[in-house]
Amino acid sequence: MYRLDQKTINRLVDWYRENRRDLLWRKDRDPYGIWLSEIMLQQTRVEAVIDYYERFRKQYPDVRSLAEADDETLLRLWEGLGYYSRVRNMKKCAQTLMEEYDGLLPADKEELMKLPGIGSYTAGAISAIAYGLPEAAVDGNVLRVLSRYFAIYGDIKDPKLKKELEETITDFYQKNKINDHDYISDLTQALMELGALVCLPNGKPLCDKCPFSSECRACQEELTETIPFRSGNKERKIIDRTLFVIRQKDRFLLHKRPSEGLLAGMYEFLGTDQKLDQEEALSYLKDMGIEVNHIDPLPSSGHIFTHLEWRMQAYEILADRLPEFDQNEYILVDKEQMQSLAVPSAFRTYLDHYGLRKRGKKR
Ligand code: SF4
Repeated sequence: MYRLDQKTINRLVDWYRENRRDLLWRKDRDPYGIWLSEIMLQQTRVEAVIDYYERFRKQYPDVRSLAEADDETLLRLWEGLGYYSRVRNMKKCAQTLMEEYDGLLPADKEELMKLPGIGSYTAGAISAIAYGLPEAAVDGNVLRVLSRYFAIYGDIKDPKLKKELEETITDFYQKNKINDHDYISDLTQALMELGALVCLPNGKPLCDKCPFSSECRACQEELTETIPFRSGNKERKIIDRTLFVIRQKDRFLLHKRPSEGLLAGMYEFLGTDQKLDQEEALSYLKDMGIEVNHIDPLPSSGHIFTHLEWRMQAYEILADRLPEFDQNEYILVDKEQMQSLAVPSAFRTYLDHYGLRKRGKKR
């Protein structure tokens, strides 16, 4: 078990109180706002999240409004943040909160972890930041800071290391009998803020600006290039796709993805998980019953998901006649109608190509 020293930690909290960024979700300690910000910040940088957070809170100011959210608007507000299951889980969670918790996020880490989409980190962050409870919230930033502080060579992707550091933090609260809610809330955010602003990744920490510099082993022993250690990522599966931007005058044909799986329930241009040359593309569309008047290649594009990469080539298709598609799965929409649909940013190249997003809706 690693040990944190109270004097050093006090210095960190003082540093945070002087240097913290003025972020919207830090204006109060509203548990709903903390929850939303933590979910948005998973995989996304603070600067990118600010506008999303503001828009989302305007539309859904509280748990009740989120529980009653209509899926289309919800997904549209999330467009560009990716990992859409996060926001779906938030809605499910809000519904559970309305049904079983009087619309409130429980002030209890174990209870929070029973809710959809809330794991150990998010539960720790809500407990400690919003409620000031002596719980740990160890994200990537905190893992990096503490791995360097203690000069830990273990793989920061190893769940055992994360658990050990969580225990180090809760042990610090217990041993020092800390129950000051403001202090706990600030310390939790201080560790994250230090990782975001000072203890930067890729061997470039700003140790001369760090309140930990005289105690930090990685800094003292010049190990910041090698710590944290991260084992190699599993290779992403690459899928070559062909997309068809099918137009009928000023309307576009969109397909609704299945309600489960990748980009569930969102709208897309028609496509297939295979690379088709122009002749093969025409034959594929013919098999679908689509009569093509004109075909033209469009720019290629790509999109990276966590375990998957799409490499997309595309064709513009003009078709005067389309078969009778199932209206629940396929729709023909104009630019105006498209504004109210959730179309993933994976298709941004083609949305931009046709100016299908209004200005100011850059996501
Ligand atoms: S002293 Fe340097 S390496 Fe250590 S925690 Fe601070 S910024 Fe990171």
